[in-house]
Amino acid sequence: MSFVIRCLDCGQTAPYFPASANCTHCGNEWREAEYDYDALAQSLPASLAARPFDLWRYRELLPIRNPNPSLSLGEGGTPLIRAINLGMMLGNPNIFIKDERQGPTGSFKDRQAAVTIAALKEAGITEMVAASTGNVAIAYSAYAARAGIKLWAFVTSLVPAVKMREIALYGSQVIKVTASYDQAKQLAAQFARQRGLYQDMGARTITSIEAMKTIAFEISEQLTALLGPRTSSTGKPMWQTPDWYIQAISGGMGPIGVSKGFRELKRMGLTENIPAFGPIQTEGCAPMVNSWKKGLEKAEPVTTPRTHIETLATGDPGRAYTFLRNTVNETNGAFESVTDEEAFRAMHVLAKMEGISVEPAAAVAVAGLIKLIRNGQVKSTDVVVVNCTGHTMPAEQSVLGENWSRNITMPAQSAEGKPEDGLLAALASVAPDRFPRVVIVDDSADSRRLIRRILQSQGDYQILEAPNGQEGLELIRRELPDLIILDLMMPEMDGFAVLDALRATAETAEIPVIVASAKELTADEKTRLGGHIQALMQKGDFMNDEFLDEVQALIQ
Ligand SMILES: *Cc1c(COP(=O)(O)O)cnc(C)c1O
Ligand SMILES: [Zn+2]
Repeated sequence: MSFVIRCLDCGQTAPYFPASANCTHCGNEWREAEYDYDALAQSLPASLAARPFDLWRYRELLPIRNPNPSLSLGEGGTPLIRAINLGMMLGNPNIFIKDERQGPTGSFKDRQAAVTIAALKEAGITEMVAASTGNVAIAYSAYAARAGIKLWAFVTSLVPAVKMREIALYGSQVIKVTASYDQAKQLAAQFARQRGLYQDMGARTITSIEAMKTIAFEISEQLTALLGPRTSSTGKPMWQTPDWYIQAISGGMGPIGVSKGFRELKRMGLTENIPAFGPIQTEGCAPMVNSWKKGLEKAEPVTTPRTHIETLATGDPGRAYTFLRNTVNETNGAFESVTDEEAFRAMHVLAKMEGISVEPAAAVAVAGLIKLIRNGQVKSTDVVVVNCTGHTMPAEQSVLGENWSRNITMPAQSAEGKPEDGLLAALASVAPDRFPRVVIVDDSADSRRLIRRILQSQGDYQILEAPNGQEGLELIRRELPDLIILDLMMPEMDGFAVLDALRATAETAEIPVIVASAKELTADEKTRLGGHIQALMQKGDFMNDEFLDEVQALIQ
């Protein structure tokens, strides 16, 4: 393919050699691949139609001369999954998870490794060095194994042992550095220089940025398939772009590459918009967020990162901050930070409400999104994509606490004893006979499912549902539940009428009621409710744990 490398400082162009890390004219390390976008605008859409949905479908926009299928592990082409329950809790129906867990080693670093290793192989390079907080080294190790390239992986001692062993399992040499991640990077760089080895340079690596672009391409194609084409200002059908791209960042390589991808789509006339960027960090290591909030043009490094989420431990982002800051400002995005605790809570929510178990670093992005929605920066109508990655273990420990399992020890089987007795007794200890009964009255099946899921995920309830006021009333009179969750806006018999009927009979008058409403109530409506309800929750404005707190307070 025809492409050149352009220096982002002096503009000099040069051919691409993976081993040359600087502009030959001015020495700058920040350079970018540039393609023949006008020609591609004509040819790309037709070429794509016949290709499988993986990273290499965009091969004309990657800095590889001859893609080598024998190195592939099935990179790219990850699903885009709508987060329906999270969306209902937050009042935003268009939250999508770009599910990078489904890459060959479970993180979006697989893209970087696939493209970089392909370039090294093409250039005849057989040994390389990378500093990593875990996922980069795991991804490189897998692809290096396939390509016959030796990897020296410099990891900090905070990287979980399971991740280190995974690196070693692939045959890479793990070098455990007891120091900060920034120091480990310096050490790796020194080692690479001494031995004259190729070194991964994070966001300054051409292949890494180019690989991350494919996330943008895929998102646009997937949203177009899901939502239909977007109509351009001149009435032409175009590819979709999300309104927001949210990602947890360390060095910032992901969003720098993804933004280049969206810029290229626009440059080729396939899209008209670029999403707002929302890079998220942990409060204990948030040099970019803090510097942006202070309005600084250069990042103030954090010398001692204080976070349990070691994947995000870049304290000194260097010039990556400047590039990302420009992207955030130009796209009306926002940097945001969250605490480790908020991230762990988001991790738990995503797992139990959506069935998606991500690693704490990815949960930082989800927690950031929750914050951006709650403070009004992300609007309820915005289409949002969050980049999520796997490797849940060994973090569940911090999320689940104690008492997450109920244990059964089977009694020893004696010759004359009846084994069923022991079995039944054991099972009785696992689940009591009677659970508190909750009736949900709501005409929206989605809302009923959300409430049911929130209750199920946390405790032992017997959950009964009715799709309208009349059936709800009958169900309540028959079952006399411990708690009622009532929608106000229903056709025919609405929630107000149900409440009036409940108050009219002594049997049902005292059952606690949580009212769920799709909108802010008027003063008149509030008067009609009077003191008859125990809690009023606005749909689209509560998280699962807030809801459960209300339920638990009322049922005890
Ligand atoms: C590497 C990584 C990040 C940080 O990515 P950058 O774009 O390099 O800042 C975030 N989350 C996960 C899961 C990662 O593996
Ligand atoms: Zn230059």
